[in-house]
Amino acid sequence: MLIAHRIALDLNNVQATYMARAAGTARFAYNWALAEWQRQYEAWKLDNSQPKPTQAALRRQLNSIKREQFPWMLEVTKNAPQMAIIQLGDAFKNFFAGRTRYPQFRKKGVHDRFTLTNDQFSIDGCRIRIPNLGWVRMRETLRFVGKIMSATISRVADRWFVSITVDTADSPHLPQAKNQGAVGVDLGVTALATLSTGETIDGPKPHKALLARLQRLSRSLSRKQKGSANRKKAKAKLARLHARIAAIRGDALHQLTTNLTRRFHTIGIEDLNVRGMVRNRHLSRSISDMGFFELRRQLEYKAGMRGGQIVVADRFYPSSKTCSDCGHKLEALSLSVREWPCPVCGSIHDRDVNAAINLKNMAVSSTV
Ligand SMILES: [Zn+2]
Repeated sequence: MLIAHRIALDLNNVQATYMARAAGTARFAYNWALAEWQRQYEAWKLDNSQPKPTQAALRRQLNSIKREQFPWMLEVTKNAPQMAIIQLGDAFKNFFAGRTRYPQFRKKGVHDRFTLTNDQFSIDGCRIRIPNLGWVRMRETLRFVGKIMSATISRVADRWFVSITVDTADSPHLPQAKNQGAVGVDLGVTALATLSTGETIDGPKPHKALLARLQRLSRSLSRKQKGSANRKKAKAKLARLHARIAAIRGDALHQLTTNLTRRFHTIGIEDLNVRGMVRNRHLSRSISDMGFFELRRQLEYKAGMRGGQIVVADRFYPSSKTCSDCGHKLEALSLSVREWPCPVCGSIHDRDVNAAINLKNMAVSSTV
């Protein structure tokens, strides 16, 4: 199983400059290859004897011209342009499979990242060795044991992180879940999640002070003159605050998934991974910010490490509208109804707990 650990980096100015340059090289190569791909594809459409573009051919093409045309590329790891083009190939693969939209050009300040293959870096405790740069300090040591596959270095606001992918070779190496039972999880509107046990797990409330500061900073940014140094400063400040709030929310998601996989062997959840639903405004901010895919990914790898399992309900499964006592299915249930009596058996249901119990039953019955 592949899992990644993201660790903050402690960089000096020289190192931060290198990271920015390597990320810039990766972005340039990606955008160059995307433009070249489009050009070659058009040429192939007109004349089928022309070669169809591939990431491997584009890498060879860039290698043959970079010394001459882009000599500055040689100042950073050769992985930066190489891996970017491989990633473009993956983006096209996903596009052709209907999983994602057409690859877009990478933007400066948005997609600042580059990837290293495992033969290009090494890790020793709290440091990582980067080609043409040397040892760089990491804030913590790598948490997972297994074969190291790759590392991606990326920028969020003004901080740099390395995300190290490790193959833990399927063997669960964490203790098994404490409670070998099952749980259903209803992802909530106000609460982060409601469990079939009746517990509610509240989402993080990003500090009122932080939100007030966010408002103040956005206002102050809009007053700064375009292109001015002050505007640039205000923009960086705002980006840092956004990153901090996102980190608080991301942390809550990790706590939720760790808590669930530690306690339960079988976990039933709804399938919210429907296009357009990802930004479902009825979901708690923590989940909608990160995306349902991230929640499911975390649950799956964490359960995998403890020998547990995740069962995802069919997307049309009526978890809210079904009575968990007698199985009666309501025609409709408006979102504003928090509590309802079953017209057949008379049970009074809390909307979210009832949905969670149905998800638990679904998970148990689909695993026997
Ligand atoms: Zn009933």
